[in-house]
Amino acid sequence: MDEKLDIAIIGTGPAGISAAITAAARGKSFRLFGSREISAKLQKAHQINNYPGFYGRSGSEIAQAFMDHLTAMHIGITDERITNIYAMGSYFSLLAGQKQYDTKTVIIATGVDFGKPYEGEEHFLGRGVSYCATCDGMLYKGRDVAVIASSASEEKEAEFLASVCSHIFYIPLYKEEPAFSSADKANIEVIHDVPEKITGALKAQQLILKSGRSLDAACTFILRTSIAPATLLSGLKMDGNHIAVNRKLETNIPGCFAAGDITGTPYQYVKAAGEGNVAALSAAAYIDLHKNS
Ligand code: FAD
Repeated sequence: MDEKLDIAIIGTGPAGISAAITAAARGKSFRLFGSREISAKLQKAHQINNYPGFYGRSGSEIAQAFMDHLTAMHIGITDERITNIYAMGSYFSLLAGQKQYDTKTVIIATGVDFGKPYEGEEHFLGRGVSYCATCDGMLYKGRDVAVIASSASEEKEAEFLASVCSHIFYIPLYKEEPAFSSADKANIEVIHDVPEKITGALKAQQLILKSGRSLDAACTFILRTSIAPATLLSGLKMDGNHIAVNRKLETNIPGCFAAGDITGTPYQYVKAAGEGNVAALSAAAYIDLHKNS
């Protein structure tokens, strides 16, 4: 029995949600990966006046309307962050923490929230720099590690690390004060500073902060909302910071499609939703074309 998904959709912004609605309408098996909170960008918008049918509504009202639409179509969200995509030739393997999902096609709809890499980040990736606490935490059992967290949702990742590692240097890049339980507080040190670079020799050894403080960390876990696409899927052709696509939203890798802000400007809800629809139609056509191969 073929247990591969037809389509894996990464991202629960307007592009990913629209792709999921079209995948369902086309009768394809799929999973929609991302946060159940829907897009943080959508939630932040005060008022949206350029999305047909939603004049004067706030981003959070539209996010709720999107959720209601998914619920009405029995579409669930797999609340997991995809950390790697491997192109296996005729299919793709996706990693979400320690879980693996195999899929015939993939639609990358991850938005454009990834920041500029820290100095040393790419050099030490896999050697003391990680994007996934659940995947790599055990490798640093009993050691001191650092966590750079872009949102409060990463606090649970730090709590997991606190149960495995000796000491956690936790650097929140968000406004709210982290709320760790008293059991975890013992070995989590919250540091309000700005990370600058990761240094070391063969492996990363220190995280250097703007204040000049140097943290001895066997690993720096960089937990961002989004991961740069070329890091997510090796070999993906980029056009500056965006994934290069054609009008069918095909990327240079057969079976891989992209939609929304990640394919380029204008950054607009309606453009993202439209591209999600086109990408899912293209993925469905690709699956039908290759069903006997
Ligand atoms: P996003 O909405 O960014 O969604 C991407 C999703 O993918 C996120 O939920 C993210 O968590 C998830 N994700 C990322 N990486 C992964 C991963 N590895 N695994 C799983 N999930 C992942 N546009 C308008 O048209 N009108 C407006 O009025 C307007 N107002 C705005 C106001 C503000 C304050 C902001 C910030 C933006 C506004 N925009 C507006 C722009 C609009 O928000 C974007 O164009 C739109 O959200 C893009 O949708 P998207 O689906 O491409 O990406």
